[in-house]
Amino acid sequence: MNQETTDRSWARQMIQASGLRATTARVATLLALRNSTPLTHAEVSTRLAEDGIDKATVFRNLNDMVSANLLRRSELGDHMWRFEIIAGEDQAHATHPHFVCVDCGTVSCMDEIELTKKSKTASSDYGQVTEILLRGHCHDCV
Ligand SMILES: [Zn+2]
Ligand SMILES: [Zn+2]
Repeated sequence: MNQETTDRSWARQMIQASGLRATTARVATLLALRNSTPLTHAEVSTRLAEDGIDKATVFRNLNDMVSANLLRRSELGDHMWRFEIIAGEDQAHATHPHFVCVDCGTVSCMDEIELTKKSKTASSDYGQVTEILLRGHCHDCV
């Protein structure tokens, strides 16, 4: 099996496991987000345009996959939804901080950072935390 076949069967399995039908467009959407930083609807659409998948289809599939807990949707302070694959064992709760560059807008996943139990408990004193965001200048913009 070549790499592309392996990737596609990975995507099909992920989608079917979430209870959705693994359509060509959904498989392509998931592959666009694989090993990627969180992408906006426009960014995903640009990547899928060459496969002939239109923006409305991309939008519908992104939202379907958010509902199916396959993707997470984040709003990082610029009023744009960004989508990323929910990875790992702890699907419902797996969350990590994001780093946003204030100069170029690049978003990075800080997968390796984990909140301590104490900070999780403390943050619930303020309300329901939906997003942890760090801002700064990325390596390209320093
Ligand atoms: Zn930057
Ligand atoms: Zn992320």
